[in-house]
Amino acid sequence: MADFLHLFPAGKAEFKDSEVTKAHEIIKPWKGEKVDGFGMIGAPLSKSSISQSGAAGAPAAIRSAFSSYTTYAIEDNVDLKDCYLHDFGDVKMHVTDLMASQQRIEDTFYEVFRSQPEMTPIIFGGDHSISSPSIKAFSGAKGTVGVIQFDAHHDLRNLKDGGPSNGTPFRNLIESGALKGEHLVQIGLRNFSNSREYHNYGRNNGVTIYTMKDVRERQITDILEESMNHLKDKVDVIYVSVDMDVLDQAFAPGCPAIGPGGMDSETLFEAIDYLGRDQSVQGMDIVEIDPTVDFRNMTSRVAAHVVLNFISGRNKSVR
Ligand code: CA
Repeated sequence: MADFLHLFPAGKAEFKDSEVTKAHEIIKPWKGEKVDGFGMIGAPLSKSSISQSGAAGAPAAIRSAFSSYTTYAIEDNVDLKDCYLHDFGDVKMHVTDLMASQQRIEDTFYEVFRSQPEMTPIIFGGDHSISSPSIKAFSGAKGTVGVIQFDAHHDLRNLKDGGPSNGTPFRNLIESGALKGEHLVQIGLRNFSNSREYHNYGRNNGVTIYTMKDVRERQITDILEESMNHLKDKVDVIYVSVDMDVLDQAFAPGCPAIGPGGMDSETLFEAIDYLGRDQSVQGMDIVEIDPTVDFRNMTSRVAAHVVLNFISGRNKSVR
């Protein structure tokens, strides 16, 4: 077949600059090997959301958002082109049975975490309900777990009124004994998004709580240093849970529970970079992105940036 000048074959019409590595090029499908680095797994469950949510579509949207970026972090002069992100795919959900889906997440993650002890998992939700089975599996495979949760909400609702939804994951973890209240740090709680009862439940169970006022008035790295000092002598490993609705609605329009008065993206990136540098942080999830209501994939792009900041932080690891 003759080649025509300046004409790409159909289906391959993609511009490629040989001196630029795009971030999606570090994603490698997992083929059964032992992973010493990062592995990503999707948990596409959002039938457990209290409000309408299409967050089940987020793992695919976040994966596609990586192609928007390069691997070069100019601010730190770090290039992530050799830092592979092994893609384990998504947990297959039961079509109708919510509890069965959550059990599948726990069982699958437990097997993956146990068989890949050197891997740092990066989980894509799904809604925030997936953090409950994910952290149970993490704790089962790795020991006593401490959690740093970025969130506008406590997620400490009782389970009796509606079952294990995206409002209950941390209550579920505390009541099941998988996570002690004093091993949970919540950052970014904001006004008119929580109830006094659930705030009191957190306080009474030893949960450390930083509101958006704390975030505004202090350096995020000071809050994290204090949090890590609080957790480190009590737990074996630390898991970071990023509910994207910790961000102000201006930065994360694709969250089901958008609202004003939240964190800006830079503060979240600074926090994630800080946590990435700490070797005791051995897992992270990113939840509550609904691509069906997002604007220009903005919120999934922030999620991809969070992952790149985490890997970049680990690359600069000093602690
Ligand atoms: Ca949440």
